[in-house]
Amino acid sequence: MWGIIATWRMAAEGVGKAADILKNGGDAGDAIETAVREVEDFPYYKSVGYGGLPNEEMEVELDAAYMDGDTLDIGAVAAIRDFANPVSIARRLSKEKVNNLLVGEGAEKFAHKEGFERKNMLTDRAKIHYRNRVKELTAQEIKPYSGHDTVGMVCLDTKGKMTTATSTSGLFMKKKGRVGDSPIAGSGFYVDSKIGGASATGLGEDVMKGCVSYEIVRLMRDGLHPQEACEKAVAMFDQELKERRGQAGDMSLIAMNNKGEWGVATNIEGFSFAVATENQEPIVYLTRHVDGKCVHEPASQEWLDDYMRTRMAPLEEK
Ligand code: ASP
Repeated sequence: MWGIIATWRMAAEGVGKAADILKNGGDAGDAIETAVREVEDFPYYKSVGYGGLPNEEMEVELDAAYMDGDTLDIGAVAAIRDFANPVSIARRLSKEKVNNLLVGEGAEKFAHKEGFERKNMLTDRAKIHYRNRVKELTAQEIKPYSGHDTVGMVCLDTKGKMTTATSTSGLFMKKKGRVGDSPIAGSGFYVDSKIGGASATGLGEDVMKGCVSYEIVRLMRDGLHPQEACEKAVAMFDQELKERRGQAGDMSLIAMNNKGEWGVATNIEGFSFAVATENQEPIVYLTRHVDGKCVHEPASQEWLDDYMRTRMAPLEEK
């Protein structure tokens, strides 16, 4: 069995490429890196890699991680600037004995020495989004929060090896140096080939409070199906946050176990994800809440067309 699952519609092209690698007996590390790079390279996805939205100071600072479920190797970068593919740097760092999570300038120095591709990640389109937001903020003092999404994936290859990886520009207009859950093991991602893996997207500050990805893997170890594990972890932690803090941030989790069974849960409306397995051609699903359960339905062609149209529509300066 092989399989790959990923947060958001934006992962679909990458999931398709990964599926080609996996069905030919390819490695889960290569497949997931290829898939995440595809998202990082696409300029119209404004929360990952090239075209990602900048921080308060109009700099694109990126977070990414990679984990190998056989060895439990972890590599991650946080607040890294000017490199094309943070996920590849994260994967490279996962091979080091120590110094596995590097931030800011240190991460950039490492990437430079290792010869990773440099790139100015701030696109003209992202600059327009930035200037528009600055105008909105001064006009009505909205909190700098919306405008984010992480690509997070879990992958299983035919040899039973599992991997997980994340990549994000984090929250739009975040403070310089702000790091979310995505490069933090247990929070944004976790995988163990003996069990399965999980990855998150949502408000990092809240996802980190519950180490939600690890919690899902733990529940799968106790025998829960990935769908049950995701629903239980998300519903319980959402409830916990609401009780203690009055509100819970956005939280959407994807998971796959080492049999290629998968699950998804979210506390928002309109969450989309992409999945492919030996038994399932690459497909995009949308999640709805029905009687307190998460129900997944294939996205319609109309929805898919509209998605691309709105992503690529000309952007007006306000
Ligand atoms: N989890 C990411 C962060 O907090 C953002 C997101 O997935 O929407 O940086």
